[in-house]
Amino acid sequence: MRLDTKLIHGGIMGDKQTGAVSVPIYQVSTYQQEAIGKHRGYEYSRTGNPTRTALETLIAELENGVRGFAFASGMAAVSTVVSMFNQGDHLVVGDDIYGGTYRVLSKVFNRLGIRSTFVDSSRPEEVEAAILPETKAVYIETPSNPLLKVTDLSKMTSICQSKGLLLIVDNTFLTPYWQNPLDLGADIVLHSATKYIGGHSDVVAGLVVVNSEEMGEQLHFLQNSIGAVLGPQDSWLLMRGLKTLGLRMRQHEKGAAQLAKWLASRKDIESVFYPGLKDHVGHEIARAQARGFGGMISFDVGSGQRAEEVLSRTKWFTLAESLGAVESLISVPARMTHASIPEERRAELGIVEGLIRISVGVEDPEDLIEDLEQALQP
Ligand SMILES: *Cc1c(COP(=O)(O)O)cnc(C)c1O
Repeated sequence: MRLDTKLIHGGIMGDKQTGAVSVPIYQVSTYQQEAIGKHRGYEYSRTGNPTRTALETLIAELENGVRGFAFASGMAAVSTVVSMFNQGDHLVVGDDIYGGTYRVLSKVFNRLGIRSTFVDSSRPEEVEAAILPETKAVYIETPSNPLLKVTDLSKMTSICQSKGLLLIVDNTFLTPYWQNPLDLGADIVLHSATKYIGGHSDVVAGLVVVNSEEMGEQLHFLQNSIGAVLGPQDSWLLMRGLKTLGLRMRQHEKGAAQLAKWLASRKDIESVFYPGLKDHVGHEIARAQARGFGGMISFDVGSGQRAEEVLSRTKWFTLAESLGAVESLISVPARMTHASIPEERRAELGIVEGLIRISVGVEDPEDLIEDLEQALQP
């Protein structure tokens, strides 16, 4: 089954009992047992819920993994995955990962004795150099946020396999529509499904897929123990979102490619970051490991003041955090999504005040270009 068909016919289709073509929302917490301990696969909805199971089955299929899990947010997914590790364990982590992931690793798990070292994962030699005897995993995002740096997944896989480490990939930016890290040797893939998978700015959710039964058992134990599960209504909304993932991702990419090209042609823009641009560092790696370049762009307008002016003038770009929805969103990472990263560290990373990030929606790209054009007028 090809990907566009899998999005419609994958996972668990509809309801056998009634013929309903969409999976019912099982708004229920507990299930009748025929005798003590004798049940039909469901006992309590933290442990398992049929609507959530349908979503978990579908995401596992889409990521070509063994088992999927749905959580109450992307951060709940990240935190549950990191709970697989023990006090004293060490992780090597990409240095421009999502700000919330940086925060939970450096301010919460660090306190519990799970330490992280942050390095530029687009430079494999830095990842290798950071590995300690107690390192258990490498955790990366590719392309990264907000500079769209590309990490070579095959190189990460060979480093991890030679050292016996797990490779964990946050695949939020490309989704399984464009990139399948498990196929390239990653062990765990996770998503903030709040973004492209939900796709309509109406759900907060996280998803995880693992590539072995053993890790599946371990993660189900943690999901049930920690309890940050996704409710049935939100599970249903994600399945509804997934049906149009292909249509949306193609349109996001079409718009992003047009906008990036147009921005790159302007003399009043310092730099444009989009993996689909031929001169983007990592363009060739992105081409080799993913089927598409995604819908995220960032560009430097030179100063914080100019960035603020542009943001105040756009009509079709909503000033908001988040990304991956049908409507175009615009933000200044240094002052919004990445504000929790200390200023000197932001400067080191190149997340300057004039950097604008755009999540290109599914509007007509011509309208988006016209709008940016008037917003960039001096
Ligand atoms: C938003 C985001 C997260 C966190 O997800 P929430 O759903 O907001 O908890 C993690 N990783 C990436 C790449 C994100 O964009």
